Formats: sequence, structure tokens, C-alpha cells
Amino acid sequence: MGLRWWRNFGAALAGVLLFFHGFCYSEKGPNYSFLQEAKQAPPNLYYDYIIIGGGTSGCALAATLSQNATVLVLERGGSPYGNPKIRNLDSFFANILDNSPLSPSQSFISEDGVFNNRARVLGGGSALNAGFYSRASAGYVKSSGWDERLVKESYEWVEKKVVFKPPMLQWQSAVRDGLLEAGVLPYNGFSYEHLYGTKVGGTIFDHQDHRHTAADLLEYANPKNIVVLLHATVEKIEFRLPDGESKPIASGVIFRDEVGVRHNAYRRDSKSEIILSAGAIGSPQLLMLSGIGPEAHLKAHGIPVILEQPMVGQGMADNPMNALPIPSPRPIENSLAQVVGITTFGSYIEAISGSDIIRSWFHRPPEQSSNDSTAPKGTEKTLKAMHTMMKATVRGGIILEKIKGPISTGHLKLRTTNPEDNPYVTFNYFKEPEDLQRCVEGMRIIIKVINSKAFSKFRFPHIPVQLLIDMVVNSPVNLRPRHVGASINLEQFCIDTVRTIWHYHGGCHVGRVVEPDYKVIGVDGLRIIDGSTFNHSPGTNPQATVMMLGRYMGEKILGER
Ligand SMILES: Cc1cc2nc3c(=O)[nH]c(=O)nc-3n(C[C@H](O)[C@H](O)[C@H](O)COP(=O)(O)OP(=O)(O)OC[C@H]3O[C@@H](n4cnc5c(N)ncnc54)[C@H](O)[C@@H]3O)c2cc1C
Repeated sequence: MGLRWWRNFGAALAGVLLFFHGFCYSEKGPNYSFLQEAKQAPPNLYYDYIIIGGGTSGCALAATLSQNATVLVLERGGSPYGNPKIRNLDSFFANILDNSPLSPSQSFISEDGVFNNRARVLGGGSALNAGFYSRASAGYVKSSGWDERLVKESYEWVEKKVVFKPPMLQWQSAVRDGLLEAGVLPYNGFSYEHLYGTKVGGTIFDHQDHRHTAADLLEYANPKNIVVLLHATVEKIEFRLPDGESKPIASGVIFRDEVGVRHNAYRRDSKSEIILSAGAIGSPQLLMLSGIGPEAHLKAHGIPVILEQPMVGQGMADNPMNALPIPSPRPIENSLAQVVGITTFGSYIEAISGSDIIRSWFHRPPEQSSNDSTAPKGTEKTLKAMHTMMKATVRGGIILEKIKGPISTGHLKLRTTNPEDNPYVTFNYFKEPEDLQRCVEGMRIIIKVINSKAFSKFRFPHIPVQLLIDMVVNSPVNLRPRHVGASINLEQFCIDTVRTIWHYHGGCHVGRVVEPDYKVIGVDGLRIIDGSTFNHSPGTNPQATVMMLGRYMGEKILGER
């Protein structure tokens, strides 16, 4: 038998082994054997990798690392499986407006007076979000210094499991055609790529309108190597400073279970790591609670300082979103974002629609109301007026724009030392004039879409765009003051009626808080891998790149072992 025979035999054997290896791994979503309640965990645990936060990046990272190492995921929320509000597209608003203590959505109001939400559930933001999936631009990948081949493979790994082509029914199609009429060209068809013009993107909702979250990526995990603890709230990362060493070493974490009992998880050996994937609010917050942050601020909260790091919590950014609601004279589909207009001036146009979406859009939970006398209080009044005028329902759609970047940034500060409490977050929307200009130009495109021929059958001819603008200006879409002129000046409209598109990021920037390999500067044994490391939001919508990054860094870390 020649060398060639042995080569072929070897290749066939490797194929068979790989097949069974992959086959053995496969556990399906709701039936993971490795999901456990934290209260069942022993007091002390030892793992190769301890991942704080089983969110959008954390799940992708954990699934990857478990291929070749033991992994513990500590997630403060519960399981997304079996929750119809998470699963069904129609429940998008019901899910994020659920303000109960165990809700997967923890609401907060930024110091800018804008309502916001953060995830508290396995799967993280992917269990709350609008599902739109679109990759980062080639320029973004390049400027991040990432390996392009591995980035591509990592996106594909995500897409194979949780991404679908959206149905594009009549309302979304009208928005697409309206964008083309408005000059957002060319038409790029269905694509995950970031391309100037109008395109249909991916979605994590399948053809039955059921959501697939990052928790589904755990189907890739090796069940023998991973444990995911639910309702495990990490209180702090612990450090030690051995004699003769200059850098503190992250040695373990303290977490609290659902009934308040504390447990410890430790790195198994010197190759092991702790990885913070608690998101753009949770990661800087937990670094500070663990003693890494601006010294005076930590001391003011009585936190022993491990490392003075003034950049922790800096560079917090949230892409501002401004929108117009358009009541529809005819029935339309319930849809979340499917089509996007990517303009050359840095504004991205998306749309959602539904039988009662305008009411949901303006609704907010009573807990989020405020005594601020300058904030408009007219939701029901305005809707009633619209309702009477139309003598119909408030079915319709919202066309919204998000700006690229943004350039304006703010900061995060601790409110208390309880990790469950929201910190103070300031985003400084539109502080930089370029952001405001992008918003104004984006609003002009939205107005063109509404006035387009393609869109004419989805609007009442007797409701002019000005009335839609007035409706937003007179509604409590946020807690910001309204200025005279917000109805007639698009700059003032952008500033006064800004909302979030929930793409907030930053607080632990690459180059400031972490090295390009995501290791925390100034300490050993600790990385941060999530949206808090982004200087700008990637692509039109970040989740594709957040999941990609989890996979990408998992592969890199395994390669280093
Ligand atoms: C309502 C909404 C709509 C959105 N729409 C879209 C969209 O259509 N398309 C898109 O691309 N993006 C969208 N996004 C943004 C996207 O979902 C987020 O950018 C992304 O999920 C962030 O991922 P992450 O891994 O950085 O953080 P997360 O996914 O938030 O993960 C952080 C995890 O850490 C856990 N955690 C935090 N602190 C602790 C602690 N102390 N102990 C233990 N666990 C902790 C949290 O519970 C959470 O599960 C949306 C987001 C929201 C909220």
C-alpha cells in the first residue's frame, strides 16, 4: 500500500472522528444538561475559564472555549427558553416593557433623560432585541486589527445557527421601495454585508417569527466541559498580589445565588482566565466594584482600590435614534427591522410595523414616569386625538434612523455598590455637531420615504408629515425638555425627541482599558469581551459583531493555550 492510500485512510478516519466528535456535542436549546440554578452550586468551584455574563458575546465565547477547556458561565438572569415574550416577534414591546423584578429586561433612564433597557437573561440583549442582523463594514474590521479570515469564519459560525432571511411582506417592501425612490442607492438585495444603498438584512427570528438567541449558540458547546449557572450575580472579581509581582492577578469571583448565598469560583491554574462579558453597562460597573477604576470615585464608594484606571466607564456612547410614526389606512404585517438604508452621510434608516405598534411605541411603564415638569405628558391625549382623527386604530409603522458612530460620548459612574442596581450613565447625545447633522439628514430621508409613491398606500393622504412631527414633539418619548421650534427645526427635533436604539457600547475601550487582545491593562488573568470594548457601534446594528467577537476571541484564546 502506497503513501497515497495511507493519506486517504488518514483523512477518512479524521472525518469520521470529527463527525462523531461534533455529534456527541450536540445538545438542543431547551434541554441543555449544563444549565443549572446557581443555588445548586457548591461553595467553591474551579474552572479553566470563568465567564461573567451569559449574554450575546458570552454565549458564543463559552461555546467555543468549551471545545478544549472547562468553562463556567455566571449569568445573573434566568433561561430564555419557555418564555413566550422572548420567543415571539409580536411580544417585542411586551418583553422590553415588562418592568417586574425578574423581567429579562432591566429598564434604566440615562442622565440624558432617555428611557433604556439592558438584558438580564441568558442570551443577553439577543433575547430582547429587534433581531436585525448585519455585519460590520470591511473598514471597521480592518481598523479593529482583526484577522479578516477568522472574522468571516466566525460570522458564518453564528449565521449557521441563529440567522434567517426575513419574509419582506408589503409594509417592509414599501419602505424598501421608498428608500430607493429617496435615492438610497443602489439596491443590494438580501445581504449580511455592510454596503452603501438599500438592502434586506438578516434576522434572528425564524420563519415562524420565533426568536433564536445567542443561548442557541450553546448547542455548539461540549456539554462535558461547560456549566452555565443561572441567577448567579457576580458581586466582584478578586485579585491577589504575590510577593515580588508588580501586577495584581485576577484569582476568582464572588457570586450570589437567587437566595442570597455567596459562592466562589476560582481559576484552575495559571493558564486559566476570568472573562468579563457583562455588557456595556455591566462590565465597567463590575470592574469598578472590583477596585479597578477612577481612584477618587472608588474611594467615595468605600471600594478598596486595586488599580487606578481613570478610563474605566469613559467613552460610553449610545447611537441616537429619531423616528416618525405613520398610521396606516390598511392592515399591515407585524414586523421588526428587515430592510435598511445605509446612507453615505452616516445615517441608517430602518422600520418596524404592526397592528398596534404606535401605541406600544409611545407607551412606557408607570415606573418610568417622572416629576420633571418640562417633559411632555400627553401620550394618551395625543393618541386619542390621532385616534379620533383617523376614526380607526393606531396600526401603522415607525420609520427610524440611527446615526453611525456616534462621535459624542459620555461616562458611567456607580450609583451604589450593589451590582443589581443601575449605575448612572450619561451618553451626551448630539454633543458633537457632526452627530446632529447626520440625524437631520437622516430625518430628511425618512420624510422623503413617507412622501414617496411607493409608500402612498400606507399613509392617510390627509395626515401631512408635519402632523406626524407634531405628534412626536408632543409625546413623552423621553424626559427631555421641549423647545419652541422642535416642530419646525429638524435639529431641535433631533435633540428634543431622541430615543435609544439600544446599541449603547463603550466603557472599557480597546487601547484604554483593554489591550488589542482584550486583556485588561495593568492586571493579569482578566479579559473583557463584549460591547463595552467598542469605540463605535459596528455595522448598522451590533449584535452580529458582538456574537462574532465571542466566537473569534474564543478561537484566539484556544489557539494560545
Ligand atoms: C431592545 C433592544 C433592541 C435591540 N435591537 C437590536 C437589533 O435589532 N439588532 C442588533 O444587532 N442589535 C440590537 N440591539 C443591541 C444588541 O442586542 C446588543 O448590542 C448586544 O446584545 C450586546 O451584547 P453584549 O454581549 O455586549 O451584552 P449583553 O448581551 O447585554 O450581555 C451581558 C450579560 O451579562 C449579564 N450580567 C451583567 N452583569 C452581571 C453580573 N454582575 N453577574 C452576572 N451576569 C451579569 C447580563 O444579564 C447579560 O445577560 C438591541 C438591544 C436591545 C436591548
